[in-house]
Amino acid sequence: MIKIEAVTAYRYAIPLRQPFRISTGEVREKHGILFSARSGDHVGWGEASVDAVPFYTSETVETALHIARQVLVPLLKSRSWDGPDGFDQAAEAYRGHRFTKAAFECLLWDVLGKMRGEPVWRMLGGVRDVVECGPSIGIKDSPEQLVKAVGEQVSAGAKRIKVKVAPGRDEAFLQAVREAFPGMVLMADANAAYTPEDIARIVGWDRFNLLMVEQPLAEEDLYYHAELARTMTTPVCLDESITTGHVCRCALAMKAADIVNIKVGRVGGLSATKRIHDMCQAAGVPVWIGGRISSGIAESARLAAASLPGATLPSDAGFASAYLTGDIVTPPLAVQGGNAMAIPDQPGLGVEVDRDLLEPYLISEDML
Ligand code: MG
Repeated sequence: MIKIEAVTAYRYAIPLRQPFRISTGEVREKHGILFSARSGDHVGWGEASVDAVPFYTSETVETALHIARQVLVPLLKSRSWDGPDGFDQAAEAYRGHRFTKAAFECLLWDVLGKMRGEPVWRMLGGVRDVVECGPSIGIKDSPEQLVKAVGEQVSAGAKRIKVKVAPGRDEAFLQAVREAFPGMVLMADANAAYTPEDIARIVGWDRFNLLMVEQPLAEEDLYYHAELARTMTTPVCLDESITTGHVCRCALAMKAADIVNIKVGRVGGLSATKRIHDMCQAAGVPVWIGGRISSGIAESARLAAASLPGATLPSDAGFASAYLTGDIVTPPLAVQGGNAMAIPDQPGLGVEVDRDLLEPYLISEDML
């Protein structure tokens, strides 16, 4: 049983190496929030992969702190927990805020792993200790700039390249990359930037021979994603749409997704990730684990998820650290050869927050 005695929230800001632009906004500094919880001799860590502003998810650093203080920390301290999935179920009494719930669910995994002396990825049912991954390249001002950025990643050893696209920064950009790198495993992520009126145009992207088109339409739009998937040869991958197990079930029933990108934060943690993974595996739909720019704490949870047997496509995990000017964990998480990451094999999530590394980025520290 896990009894949590003390919880602390840490807000941080880490400058990015270069601005990261997606269809909905630009980020120059990564604002984030970590939580630590003590149970006896063990301290577990979790991170809500949110930002200062709600450009990816409706949650932010401030809402995470608010929900933690008002709801999740009182719940966490209210009883002893058998394991993370008990907390996951109890937290369902409160609507939404899954990125914040995920932080607490993951820190319970970290505590449980430390109590048992086992790494989380093994407890979760993982089958690999090295995870394939590939970079995600933000929107550039010109096709030439994008080709240059892709070229740098290819030189660094990348085997799968994902490029962000948006209306007006799509076809000429994909065309240029495909011409420059005819054999590259290439995919396009639109972060929900298109509408059903764009379907015919998106179907035309079949000519770029993409591994997949990721989340072209709105988060809520399973219906038109199903129409697109029926019409297009290129596999359609859902990312933002997959918020819960039930939504995933509906997406699979409607054949709205040929591939599913599970984000550990977006679905509320590793227990939900495993359930959605299992559902996709039963339906024969490959999954992969999406990334968000965040510290090594959220990254380590993503790596554990990417060890699951059905996570057969390269993950975004690992590339957050490539965008940050520093990280806060030891041992450092590093991409190997431009295309793979080893999952830390220490008990729990396998990494620890290093107070000296955190200090220069720390904005506030709150006992909750
Ligand atoms: Mg995506």
